[in-house]
Amino acid sequence: MPPHDVASALRSVRARVDAACRAAGRATADVTLVAISKTHPADAIRAAYAAGQRDFGENYAQELRDKARELADLTDLRWHFVGPLQTNKAKYVAGVACCFHALDRAELAVELGKRVSALGRPLDVLLEVNVGTEASKHGVSPDMVGALHRSVAAVAGLNVRGLMCIPPPRENAEDARADFQRLRALAAEQGLAQLSMGMSDDFEVAVSEGATLVRVGTAIFGPRPAKEAG
Ligand SMILES: *Cc1c(COP(=O)(O)O)cnc(C)c1O
Repeated sequence: MPPHDVASALRSVRARVDAACRAAGRATADVTLVAISKTHPADAIRAAYAAGQRDFGENYAQELRDKARELADLTDLRWHFVGPLQTNKAKYVAGVACCFHALDRAELAVELGKRVSALGRPLDVLLEVNVGTEASKHGVSPDMVGALHRSVAAVAGLNVRGLMCIPPPRENAEDARADFQRLRALAAEQGLAQLSMGMSDDFEVAVSEGATLVRVGTAIFGPRPAKEAG
């Protein structure tokens, strides 16, 4: 296989996001492409950065901390944390992230709030919702979103911006549409503007359903090493 060309893959993903925006009658500036760089080396992130990418996402807390150190010279790079987070690792995210996409419990919000308040750097958060009908380990059930929103809104240092979902893997991207619609309706009920939804296989459907943040890994950086399960 020839070496994966991050810059050209990134250009093609951007073009697809733009096309999906046009098709939906949306402004391209309303959708932020978050390049999910988990398991990929700092060099791959530098290549995407050199091609103009600024928002990057990780989903392992220590990996985020280590990469943020390694790439500290890229001062306008914005880190998103999109993975499940153990409370005792909240400090790694609080120290560097601008946005945490997967807040799913009040206890974690309290710990993050303490950490970011001590550091004097507020954190945007999105509440992760389990919109799929299948049982999933992560995310609050739709009927608990209001309660979680109220708890997190009371935590100093955290700004609740929206909702996030990871629909179960499906054969056709179209099959995620109902989940995306459900997330959008829940966000509207809560008066929240940001919708983090859509990955490599279904980001165009997500954009057509109102995604404001799409999380794209494989389509930009190529396949992840096989040892990585999710
Ligand atoms: C890995 C990951 C992604 C990116 O998945 P791809 O299918 O590689 O685009 C998006 N969101 C989360 C939460 C992830 O863990």
